Amino acid sequence: MSNIQAQDQEIYEAIEREKRRQAEGIELIPSENYTSEAVMEACGSVLTNKYSEGYPGKRYYGGQENIDTIETHAINRAKELFGAEHANVQPYSGSPANTAIYFALLEFGDTVMGLKLEHGGHITHGLPIAFSGRAYNFVQYEVNIETGRIDMENVRKMALENKPKMIVAGYTAYPRDIEWKKFKEIADEVGAITVADISHTAGLIAGGALQSPVPYFDVIMTTTHKTLRGPRGAIILCKEKFAKAIDRAVFPGLQGGPHENAIAGKAIAFKEAMQPEFKQYAEQVKKNAHHLADELKKRDFKLVSDGTDTHLLLIDLTNKNVPGKQAQDALDEVGMTLNKNTIPGEPRSPFDPSGIRLGTPAITTRGMKEPEMERIAQWIDKVISNIDDKALHAQIKEEVKEMCLGFPVPGIAT
Ligand SMILES: *Cc1c(COP(=O)(O)O)cnc(C)c1O
Repeated sequence: MSNIQAQDQEIYEAIEREKRRQAEGIELIPSENYTSEAVMEACGSVLTNKYSEGYPGKRYYGGQENIDTIETHAINRAKELFGAEHANVQPYSGSPANTAIYFALLEFGDTVMGLKLEHGGHITHGLPIAFSGRAYNFVQYEVNIETGRIDMENVRKMALENKPKMIVAGYTAYPRDIEWKKFKEIADEVGAITVADISHTAGLIAGGALQSPVPYFDVIMTTTHKTLRGPRGAIILCKEKFAKAIDRAVFPGLQGGPHENAIAGKAIAFKEAMQPEFKQYAEQVKKNAHHLADELKKRDFKLVSDGTDTHLLLIDLTNKNVPGKQAQDALDEVGMTLNKNTIPGEPRSPFDPSGIRLGTPAITTRGMKEPEMERIAQWIDKVISNIDDKALHAQIKEEVKEMCLGFPVPGIAT
């Protein structure tokens, strides 16, 4: 960072402070992670200088020999990693990728089924004020409020009633495994296209810790920066028969020049995800989440669906008499970062909901295991049970920092 330091103090200092924050705090936001230094090098490389509209072998600008090599590696590795027939590695991020899928396979106004936001769905799955909800007729399914799980019989009933052209499964705040096969059977009954959004769980699926939708679903989308541990971005995988429509929707339908620096980062991340250590990481993410769930339940925390199958926990704080936002702020103060979240059947407002959402990918990447999960559960409990005790919070902040310094973050010298 010597060049930034010499040239731009404001940005340099903010990045340095951010490094310290990442190194000294416990990252529990389930959609965050730490990429390897190799991935970061690719993102900060000269590839950021190059325009390469089009696809390998079919570009609109000259000088593509190296870019084509890189993007072809990214495509082949994505296909191999997930066992997919076709891969598009150009989407800038998850939201544009979902938009491209809709643009490729639907007409405006077509009926689509997606999970409601307050029940764990993503804004791109039909939130009324979002592009998806404005451009398409989204019919939104829910989880069962009692069990916290998706009620597949109800999904089937809604599908038969609404005859959607597409069914979207895969979520943002859902702690349980997804019944891909059952979704596919329902979609087949009504002739709907199946789209799996595995943004949150792609790393666990690639590492063999969760079931893959690839054998069943038509189209699979994932961000590359969550459990998959790559650079910020996304990919779309699909069956060969949708390949042309998907590629044309990404470029020129929705995007211009792809970010080849990020695509090189994706290629590197996919290679990393094929190594045996990545399987261990995926297993440990799940083990840590289970252990954290058990430790929190011991301390009378109420988990939506009573536990987790994945990397993610959703806690209903109603019995603790602490709203989600206050919990988020107090935990932030002690160096534990997570986010307030709505719970199914949310009685409060989305700006100040009843729950918090947390996950184990980032802390697992740092090497934390079961003993650390126990300490994290203890700290969460202490902070929430003593929400106004500033002295206690200051003491916990020191304990958090001390533990964190024993688990280095890639790219940050401690
Ligand atoms: C994170 C996420 C996205 C969107 O990704 P961005 O890169 O933030 O646009 C889409 N779908 C799901 C389920 C997600 O969790």
